[in-house]
Amino acid sequence: MSATQTFEFQAETRQLMDLMIHSIYSNKEIFLRELISNASDAIDKRKFLGLTDKTIIQESNNFIRIEIDKAARRLTLTDTGIGMNRDEVVTNIGTIAKSGTKEILEQMKSAGNAADLIGQFGVGFYSAFMVAEKITMLTRRADSPTGVRWVSTGAGTYTVDEEDKPTVGTTIILDLKPADAENGLPDFCDEFVVESTVKKYSDFIAYPILMKKEVFKTVGEGENAKSEKSIEEATLNSMKPIWTRAKSDVKDEEYNEFYKHLSHDWEDPLKVINYRAEGRIEYVSLLYIPKRAPFDLYYTSFKGGLQLYVKKVLILEKAEELLPRYLRFVKGVVESADLPLNISREILQQDRHIAAVRKGLTTKIISELTALMEKERDKFADFYKEFGPALKEGASTDYEHKEKLSGLLLFASSNDAEKTTTLKEYISRMKPEQKDIYYLSGESRLTLENSPHTESLRAKGYEILYLIDAYDEIVLQNIGEFDGKKFKSASKGELDLADEKQKEKDTEKLKEADKAMGPLLGSLKEHLKDQVKEVKFTSVLVSAPSRVVGEEFDVSPYLEKILSRNGEKVPPRLKTLEINPEHEITKKLFALYDKNPGAAELADYAQILYGHAVIADGGELKDVARFNKALLAVATKGLG
Ligand code: ADP
Ligand code: MG
Repeated sequence: MSATQTFEFQAETRQLMDLMIHSIYSNKEIFLRELISNASDAIDKRKFLGLTDKTIIQESNNFIRIEIDKAARRLTLTDTGIGMNRDEVVTNIGTIAKSGTKEILEQMKSAGNAADLIGQFGVGFYSAFMVAEKITMLTRRADSPTGVRWVSTGAGTYTVDEEDKPTVGTTIILDLKPADAENGLPDFCDEFVVESTVKKYSDFIAYPILMKKEVFKTVGEGENAKSEKSIEEATLNSMKPIWTRAKSDVKDEEYNEFYKHLSHDWEDPLKVINYRAEGRIEYVSLLYIPKRAPFDLYYTSFKGGLQLYVKKVLILEKAEELLPRYLRFVKGVVESADLPLNISREILQQDRHIAAVRKGLTTKIISELTALMEKERDKFADFYKEFGPALKEGASTDYEHKEKLSGLLLFASSNDAEKTTTLKEYISRMKPEQKDIYYLSGESRLTLENSPHTESLRAKGYEILYLIDAYDEIVLQNIGEFDGKKFKSASKGELDLADEKQKEKDTEKLKEADKAMGPLLGSLKEHLKDQVKEVKFTSVLVSAPSRVVGEEFDVSPYLEKILSRNGEKVPPRLKTLEINPEHEITKKLFALYDKNPGAAELADYAQILYGHAVIADGGELKDVARFNKALLAVATKGLG
């Protein structure tokens, strides 16, 4: 026998327990949901591991038992789950692995009213400290000959001991605080309180939740019939899988509770989708769209997937094959009777049924999201903030659903300073002669609004999509077109905006400018020879003196900046510097050049015209020192 060991809780755990112990949160009953949920998970896990690991002793009669000892004010929960060994107890119960716990604790501390947050935050096991002054846990893992005893009063430490436990699984003994119903602490030694709490939160649990309670039976017949009271163990939950029940029979709260159990999320879901496919391939599904994206959703290591049941048996905990990768944020359950019970991962990947299910679910989810977008735009916008990148991934990769997924994308635009737009809405506002959908990417709305590139578009009353997420540019390139309209960057290549008459006029003007001031261009090019490809006059600028323009398929300067910050190599490509011949600075510069083509100031002005254009474009100046030097030289001279 090893001696009793005393451990200190990890700092965050201690804070969490402190909050629980002193909690004035009025929904203290949720502790029971948490403990039952853990027990159910543990039974699932034992079944599961037992399929492949022969050292796991299996159990055919699974249950979760609740016992009440009124005299001792003690509530005991026993399960037939996987149990834990000594190391697992120390890591699982002594520390909090959940991501984001620190942040939530900070919030709780600063909120002043921690009570509200407790209800939202799935505090799991520790929530039992809201109702218990001491917790004892006896547990034995299904591949271990001995058990472990864990005891804590929540005062910063816990003890771990060996325990001679005859059965596999976990027993949690709560020494309850005195009941104080008026202050939100009901008496959990009262069978009625326990039973109604189980019904409220845990009815769908797939294993019987047993408790001894008073039952009344009629004995005798006719005149002699009388009601007799006896104490019997009863099952408190209906155990009916929630996804097979008729939608009209299930309350919203029940759907939400099941979601929390399934996902370990602490918030209600954003949307519940209960979908039954009938016909050639039959299956039932209960899907959830969470409110928030997990922090690691966009990591390659993230594992999504739905629970797959075949004929009421859980076959796979995370069947990723049931959804395309970009929908990995969707949680839920699928049950089908058309699959063999012994289906393996390999078969799953090729199975025709599974492919059909995936297709059906994808179409259903996209149509639900479309309805959300059309009917509840604000809610959809919240969803988009969290999961927008996943939709973009879908629009770029799922050719079959490209049009529908592209239709769900939201963009900032010149049309409205606050509200985002869909592509469809953009098209509905297009000018009659407008052929393309224009976009420009940049760091912020402000840069884009003041960009020289958008001047001529705005002059024509054309709307511009403002791509503030740099990757949107890649997404639009991948999508290629929407509803027959091509996407066109305002900063690349030629914008075919003018009508024939205007074009003629513009060409004429440019010819004149070339004739009158052409040599200036050569001089500027000479001073910028390692920085630009070409210097030429343009007719598209209105108030700006210059802009830099890339080729049709170049990445924008903004995206280039983001990519190189992320360590990606973008091959350097020189751009064209375009000069507004009608701008005052151009005219004065030409006069200077005309007087003395070798004037030293020309080099400084070349840097300023170029630097201004790059900065206005949201790009990064490669040689800031050179630009600054030129700026100071010109400014100093300007003072006389
Ligand atoms: P969560 O359930 O979200 O992981 P909890 O605080 O509820 O967080 O539980 C922490 C961990 O303790 C669980 O993940 C599990 O590994 C372990 N655990 C809790 N209760 C049991 C139990 N009855 N049987 C086996 N393991 C359990
Ligand atoms: Mg839990």
